[in-house]
Amino acid sequence: MKTFKELRVSAPILEALSRQGYACPTPIQEQAIPQVLQGKDVLGCAQTGTGKTAAFSIPVLQLLSAGKPEGYKQGAIRSLILTPTRELAIQIDESLEAYGENLELKHAVVFGGVSQSSQVQQLRQGVDILVATPGRLLDLVSQKLIWLDKVEILVLDEADRMLDMGFIHDVKRVLSLVPAKRQTLFFSATMPRQIQALADAILRRSYEGGSDS
Ligand code: AMP
Repeated sequence: MKTFKELRVSAPILEALSRQGYACPTPIQEQAIPQVLQGKDVLGCAQTGTGKTAAFSIPVLQLLSAGKPEGYKQGAIRSLILTPTRELAIQIDESLEAYGENLELKHAVVFGGVSQSSQVQQLRQGVDILVATPGRLLDLVSQKLIWLDKVEILVLDEADRMLDMGFIHDVKRVLSLVPAKRQTLFFSATMPRQIQALADAILRRSYEGGSDS
């Protein structure tokens, strides 16, 4: 078993992880983190409870903190993490806060069922990483409060659940709004044919991430 340091996780994040009490990476983290850090697309088959949130959050934080791309626009959303439920969205946002505590990156979360005003206020201050559920995200996009044209890394979390919940059209619409040239991380607990087809259609070099074994 490798350590986070051996996976080339950066010092500020290592420090945050040790404060969280994480001694070593889980299998999905050991498989996904190096692939993501190399800029590759990732297909991860992992259930909740396997550490999948950290498997994508850690390398996203590290890649974005490493430098800004050509044509960087101040305040632009550089990574979008799409997840099906408010509970998952909040949990991911809390993880970004914990793992990124020594970094300068800004993150925010938007989800439906609550007033949008405090979410909009946060967005106006500029956000590097946005965690979102599909409906509220597209609502804010249509109000021109969110632009996705500078997204460098797109994460689809619990893709099978998003499809089960009827978000397929929303997911496809989001895919049409983010740049074609991007890194994509795709996580799903199950891999039925429809999910595999979606992954095949949107990933550049798909990498089969491990399950919870
Ligand atoms: P997740 O599968 O992302 O929902 O994570 C499940 C739980 O495992 C969360 O409470 C995380 O804080 C915790 N966790 C994630 N990675 C590690 C790790 N490497 N060591 C210990 N706990 C972890």
